Amino acid sequence: MIAQPIPAFAIFGPPGCGKGTQAALIEERLGYLHVSTGDIFRAAVARQDPNALKAKELMERGELVPDRVIRDMLQGELQNILDHADSPTGVILDGFPRSPGQSEMLDDLIAALGLRFTGALSLKVDEEILIDRLAKRAKLENRPDDTEEVIRERMRVYREKTQPLEDFFAGRDQLIEVDGLGTLEDVYNRLAPIIQSW
Ligand code: AMP
Repeated sequence: MIAQPIPAFAIFGPPGCGKGTQAALIEERLGYLHVSTGDIFRAAVARQDPNALKAKELMERGELVPDRVIRDMLQGELQNILDHADSPTGVILDGFPRSPGQSEMLDDLIAALGLRFTGALSLKVDEEILIDRLAKRAKLENRPDDTEEVIRERMRVYREKTQPLEDFFAGRDQLIEVDGLGTLEDVYNRLAPIIQSW
């Protein structure tokens, strides 16, 4: 019997929309592997990876790491994570693609990893609510990219570079918009049936 490729979906939304938390819940409850490109970069900076070190300053300012760095790093990092994973149900791409250039890398990456792309979940939350949430998270997690100034910059970068991906996915009939307001469980209960249908 030929093994079916496992499903992979992208989750995106403005900074602070709760996608990381939802991805962790989906991992815990549905057996999906949560792959966060932000976590991959932070880990690579921590082990002094030369590619990641070049991008560190950009990350701290709330800018995107250049697409060419993503191209050089992501496939190897993802392959390594998949090789060490324990038969996941599927894969959550949290934080990729994040720019029009990266959306063009998506199909090749999915094919190279032997996955099956199922769709992009876009979490919708009002920006002012997010700025308040992020300021609170900054205090809790002590993240250098969560000062108010950097938060506003990350929002701007999101609007300019990442939000246009909605059109990209809508054009492929792969965009699913989900209301990100409410409790953790409210949002999870909106996401889970969609994911389970894949
Ligand atoms: P996150 O934890 O997803 O908010 O990512 C933190 C930071 O890592 C971002 O602000 C970017 O500087 C960088 N980053 C993560 N993923 C990407 C990506 N796909 N493309 C470019 N930069 C990224």
